[in-house]
Formats: sequence, C-alpha cells, structure tokens
Amino acid sequence: MNIATKTVNVVQETAALLEKLGVSKDLYTGGDMASFSPVTGEQIASLKTVTAAEAAAKIEKADAAFRAWRLVPAPKRGELIRLLGEELRAHKADLGRLVSIEAGKITSEGLGEVQEMIDICDFAVGLSRQLYGLTIATERPGHRMMETWHPLGVIGVISAFNFPVAVWAWNAALAIVCGNAVVWKPSEKTPLTALASQAILDRAIARFGDAPDGLTQVLIGDRAIGEVLVDHPKVPLVSATGSTRMGRDVGPRLAKRFARAILELGGNNGGIVCPSADLDMALRAIAFGAMGTAGQRCTTLRRLFVHESVYDQLVPRLKKAYSSVSVGNPLESTALVGPLVDKPAFDNMQKALSEAKAHGGSITGGERVDLGHANSYYVKPALVEMPKQAGPVTEETFAPILYVMKYSDFDAAVADHNAVGAGLSSSIFTLDLQEAERFLSPDGSDCGIANVNIGTSGAEIGGAFGGEKETGGGRESGSDAWRAYMRRATNTINYSKALPLAQGVSFDIE
Ligand code: NAD
Repeated sequence: MNIATKTVNVVQETAALLEKLGVSKDLYTGGDMASFSPVTGEQIASLKTVTAAEAAAKIEKADAAFRAWRLVPAPKRGELIRLLGEELRAHKADLGRLVSIEAGKITSEGLGEVQEMIDICDFAVGLSRQLYGLTIATERPGHRMMETWHPLGVIGVISAFNFPVAVWAWNAALAIVCGNAVVWKPSEKTPLTALASQAILDRAIARFGDAPDGLTQVLIGDRAIGEVLVDHPKVPLVSATGSTRMGRDVGPRLAKRFARAILELGGNNGGIVCPSADLDMALRAIAFGAMGTAGQRCTTLRRLFVHESVYDQLVPRLKKAYSSVSVGNPLESTALVGPLVDKPAFDNMQKALSEAKAHGGSITGGERVDLGHANSYYVKPALVEMPKQAGPVTEETFAPILYVMKYSDFDAAVADHNAVGAGLSSSIFTLDLQEAERFLSPDGSDCGIANVNIGTSGAEIGGAFGGEKETGGGRESGSDAWRAYMRRATNTINYSKALPLAQGVSFDIE
C-alpha cells in the first residue's frame, strides 16, 4: 500500500471547520448527544438535542412560515435557492471536509457530495420557473379545464448517515422552490454536517432578506424525534431515507394519518456481466460500485452475476483489485477506501461473511485493517465467490461485500437478479443490443435505476432517484420528482351562459 500521509487532529479540525462554517458553539458543546468521527473513533462534539415538545414547537413555527412562503412567487423562491447554491460553492471545501470527518468519506467523495448539493440547487432554480400544470380538453362547450400545482406544507426530511447532506439538499431545494417549509431530522451519526448545512442556508436566507422566520429547521435527536416528525398532523409529507427496517415503521405510521411518504430505503444492487462485455470498463465500474464509500452507499454493488465464458478472465482481475486497493485514513491519505461508520457496521460485515462461508462462499479480503485507533473500523473490502444466491446474499449488509456468482443462461441471471426484496439500482455490462434492451424492458431489471455499461452507484441529480419493492417506491431529485412536494388541483372554468353537466347528465329544476 502506497499512501501519502500527514497527521491531522480530528477534534481540533472539527471545531475549526464548524466555526468557519458559522455554527454556533453552544449547539455542539456541553450537550447530551455525543458525536464521533469514524476516521479515528474519537468523540468530536456533544450536541444539544431537542425534546419532543421543542420539536413540535419547531414544526408549528415552520407551519406558520409556510403560510407566508407559499404566497411568494415561485421564481422569487428560486432566488433563495440560487443564493444557497452560491453559499455552497463558497463553502464547498470546508463542508466537504466536514463530511469526510463525520461520515468517513474519502476527500473526492466528501467534495462530490457537496457538488451534488450545488447541482440540485441549479436544477431547482430552473424549476422555480417551470412548475407547470396541464390544460386539458373538456367535453363541455364554453369550458376550460386545467391543473394547478400548489405548495403542500411542512416537509419532513429524515436522513441517513451515509449521505449526510446531499439527501437533505435534494429534498430541501425542491421543497423550498415549491413553496414549502422544511424540518430536517438528520442521522444521529452525522448531526454536525446538518448544523453546518443549516448555517450555510441561514447565510443565504440573510442575503435573501425577507424569508419568513422558521422556514427551515433542524431537529437534533434520535429516532424518537424522527417519530415526532412522522406523527405530526402539520407535516403532510415525510421524505425518509434509511434502512428498510426504518421504512417498515415510518410507512404505516404515515399511511395511518393519510400523510404522504417518499421512502428511500435499502438497496441490494446487482450487476450482470455478459459474454460481450468490455471487461476493462466493467472492472473499473465494479470496483468503484462495490468498494467506493467503503460499500456504504444505498446504490453500492453487492451482487454480481458473471457469464461462465468470461468468469475466469474477470474474477481474477477483480480479486487482484480487491487485494491491492488502498484502505486508509481519508483525512491523511489518498486511500480509496475509508472507514466503516462504527463497530455495529463492522460486526454486521463479519457476521455476513461467516454466514456466506457457511453457504459455501470463498472469501477474498474482509479482515480489519489496524490503523492504530481502537475505536475506528477499517476493513479490506471483501469479494465472495458464491455457488448460488443464498443466505446473506439476499439481504443488504451495509459494508463492502461483493458476492460473485457464475451464470450460463441470461433469463435465469435476470430472474436471480430480481429475486431479492430490494429494488434500487442495477447494471448490465454488454455490447449486445438485445441483451441491453431486454435488461431495460418490462421483463428485465425490476429496479428504479437500470444502467447499461456503467455501475450501480453515482447517480446524477437530473434523473428521478429511488427504487421499487423494499426500497420503498419513493422518487426524489430530478425529472418530475418535484410533483411529490406539491398538491395538484384540477380546475374547471365555465365561461359559457349554460350549465351543461358532465356525462350528459340532466338535472333540470324549476
Ligand atoms: P437508519 O434506518 O438506521 O436511520 C436513518 C434515519 O432514520 C436516521 O435519521 C434515524 O434516526 C431515523 N429513524 C430510524 N428509525 C426511525 C423511526 N422509527 N421513525 C423515525 N425515524 C427513524 O439508516 P442508516 O444506518 O443511517 O443508513 C443506512 C441505510 O440507509 C441503508 O439501508 C441504506 O441503503 C439506506 N439509504 C438509502 C438511500 C436511498 O436513497 N434509497 C440513501 C442512503 C441510505
């Protein structure tokens, strides 16, 4: 392993970054919630959490702000998000660095996450002039029918640790141009980047001038505070990103009070490497998809089906890449793989590997890498050759484990690919047009994202992002995902002097 290193004091650097980013010190010192950096395992802050009553009061305040904000013309609302994009550009390096400290991402991925925030701001600014409704042909003379889109209310955002800031930006940028207020419950593992993002937005709000007080808020707390957001009658939509376990709890609670849900849950993403695949290209895409972010992306490649005719060409090269990939402290080195988020993540990985072994798996990698910090968990990514899709292969383990299986029949490979609970992202590597198109067709991949000759991870903001089945069915970010943040009204206007009824119904009164 050849990694350039320098020494960083994580605790001091965190405090310096928070100060630079404008986060008030009393929010992250002397509080009741400890925050740790996965990079060294050290405690980097103690945050003040909100009580359930305080959380409810913040939601009420956001609701009051919404009632004013919904009357601001959408292009003017877009101006606030344009300013947010400017502030994010100015603070990209510092916020990206804080993401690396708090979530353990390598430098380019920490910066990439902030770039994603900037990209969605640009998208949302354009969108603020394009919240179009349809004009629809009516069956009645002298009538006009149309759709109008109106702001919805307070949008609740619950986010996961692994995209600590981008997911909020995907939701908040759209929700705000759509005329809503936003209340955010970030992961308890990554609260500092949330406070920093709110501080950056506060600068944009100050420059904007007259946004209503309380338009966006952060709730620091654990799952119980998330539940306050989920159950509050003044939150008509909750966009919740996290595990399928979380979605199983949140989904029914929202349904019970007829609130809307955008559920962005776990993934168990698969790829198929066909006989005609460009193996050099596939190798790079698989390596990034499976090992990048230390396997802690919802879109991480976890299952790979390789045709028997290319298996012996590809898999040894993959194993070599696994053996030589650099694992290290992302703040001090140019390593490609940083730490797992915490000990439970490491334990889950080891448990899955021993189960895979019991199912006949042959493992390359997976062992802990000792960087001299007792409480940080670095691992060699694991490649596991499996005789078939069984045991832990069918479930998401949020760690860098790639299960590799050999296939001979295309249809059987697609069927196996689809035979898991999650339905987020998928890829096929082929130069055969028929195979590519079949993978994208109605009886191909059953996922929300289906790619050809690129990996499963690293989506652009322009497309709608989300997955099917146990991934929850939500869509956010680009395309027409904005519609989820607005309510649709169908309006029929009669400009004639008669009152014809629809479907030819007559109802003549004297
Ligand atoms: P998690 O489910 O443990 O927590 C996610 C968030 O939900 C946290 O803020 C947590 O406090 C909150 N939460 C948990 N239970 C809750 C409840 N009952 N009510 C209200 N809030 C609750 O997930 P995590 O470990 O932070 O993140 C990893 C998981 O997230 C993986 O499964 C990953 O695939 C998934 N993920 C999905 C996407 C996506 O877009 N589909 C994106 C990122 C992460």
